[in-house]
Amino acid sequence: MARIVMKFGGTSVGDISRIRNVARHVKREVDAGHEVAVVVSAMSGKTNELVGWAREASPMHDAREYDTVVAAGEQISSGLLAITLQGIGVDARSWQGWQIPIRTDNSHGAARIQEIDGTELIKRFGFGQVAVISGFQGIGPDNRIATLGRGGSDTSAVAIAAAVKADRCDIYTDVDGVYTTDPRIEPKARRLSRISFEEMLEMASLGAKVLQVRSVELAMVHKVRTFVRSSFEDPDAPGMGDFDNPPGTLICDEDEIVEQQVVTGIAYAKDEAQLSLRRVSDRPGVAASIFGPLAEANLNVDMIVQNISEDGSFTDMTFTVPSSDLDKALGVLNRMKETITFDMVQSEAGMSKVSVIGIGMRSHAGVAATAFKALAEKGINIRAITTSEIKISILIDGAYTELAVRTLHSVYGLDKQ
Ligand code: ADP
Ligand code: ASP
Ligand code: MG
Repeated sequence: MARIVMKFGGTSVGDISRIRNVARHVKREVDAGHEVAVVVSAMSGKTNELVGWAREASPMHDAREYDTVVAAGEQISSGLLAITLQGIGVDARSWQGWQIPIRTDNSHGAARIQEIDGTELIKRFGFGQVAVISGFQGIGPDNRIATLGRGGSDTSAVAIAAAVKADRCDIYTDVDGVYTTDPRIEPKARRLSRISFEEMLEMASLGAKVLQVRSVELAMVHKVRTFVRSSFEDPDAPGMGDFDNPPGTLICDEDEIVEQQVVTGIAYAKDEAQLSLRRVSDRPGVAASIFGPLAEANLNVDMIVQNISEDGSFTDMTFTVPSSDLDKALGVLNRMKETITFDMVQSEAGMSKVSVIGIGMRSHAGVAATAFKALAEKGINIRAITTSEIKISILIDGAYTELAVRTLHSVYGLDKQ
C-alpha cells in the first residue's frame, strides 16, 4: 500500500464524461489498496471565462475579489468528481482550500503556499476516504480565498503530496508526459521517460506550461516523486497501475538519469516585448536607477543587454517584459527622465523567446554557436541572447516562433526517428 496524490488538469475534467473517466483512474488506485488524495483544476476554459468576467466588471478590480471569482471553477470540479466517485462506490469527499486549510501568503492572484495542515486528510486516509481537493486555491492571512497564479493546481498537488508525505504525485494532463518540446508545435517531439528537476524548472520557467514553475521548485525541495502522465488513456489498460514504472515522465534527480543528452528540450514563450533606452549617460548606478523603479512597479524584467559606447560615456540598455506589461513599463521609463539622461525609448511588442535547455551543456562547448548558425540559415534574426550554465535563450520576431522551435529541435537531434 502506498499514498498517492493524483492531479487532473482542465481538459481532463472538461465535461461529465471526462470526469467519469477520471473517477475510473482514481478507483483503479483505490482498488489497488492505495491511499489517495485527488487535486482538480477547473473544467477547461472556465478559469479564462471567470478572469474575463472579473476584468469586464472592472479592469482595476480588487485582487481579493478577483480570487473569490476565479477560485470558483475548482469548487465545481471537486464537487462533481466527489459525486461521480460516490456513484461508482468510492468513499469520496470534496475539500476547498480553506477547509484543509492550505495557508498562503497575502499576494492575492499569485499567492504562495506557506503551510498545509495534513492532519485531517491523513486521518481520513485511515478509514479509506478519498479527498477531492480544489487546486489553485488556499486561504490567506486575511482569512480570504487566495489563488496561486495561472496553472497553480500543479503546485497545489505537489504541496499536498509533500504535506501528507505521499509516495508519489501523478500529474495527469492532456499529453502523456513531458516532451522534448511542445508536441502541439512540433509533432516530431519525443516523450522523455525522465527529466531532471533542474531542466524541468528551466523548461517551465522558459514557457513550457505543462507544469507550473513553483510546482517543480516544491518537488525539487521536498523530493516529491512526480510523474506527468495522460488522463486520456484507458484507466484499466495494462501497466496503468504499475506502481514503480507508471507510463509517463518522471521528474527526478540528475543522477537518476542514465542517458544524458547535451540538449534535453526546447521551450518558447510568446508575447514578449523589447524595450531599449538609447544613449543613456553612463555612470555607476545607472542600471539600478533603471531597474529599481521597474521592480517597484512589479514589472517582471527578463533578458537584459547593455552596450557601452566606444568612449564609455554612453550606454544602450535593452531588456524584455511580457507584452501585456509594455504600456506600464513605458510609463515608468518616461518618468525616469527626471533621474537619468537618455535620448529616447524604443519599444516593440510581438517578440518570442526561444530557449535551448540541457544539463549536458555544462560540459560541452559550441552548443550556442550551433543554434545561431541554424537560425541564420533560416533567415531568423536574433535580437537578444542570454545564457546560463544549462540554457540559451534567444529573442526573435514572434512570427518565426514555430520555425525557430522546429529548427532548433532538429539541429540538436531531438526529432523522433
Ligand atoms: P492541464 O490543464 O492538464 O494543467 P496544461 O494545458 O496546463 O494542462 O499543460 C499541458 C500542455 O502543455 C500540453 O497540452 C502541451 O501543449 C503543453 N506543453 C508545452 N510544452 C510541453 C512539453 N515540453 N511537453 C509536454 N507538453 C508541453
Ligand atoms: N484553473 C487554473 C488555471 O486555469 C489553475 C490550473 O488549471 O492549474 O490557471
Ligand atoms: Mg496546467
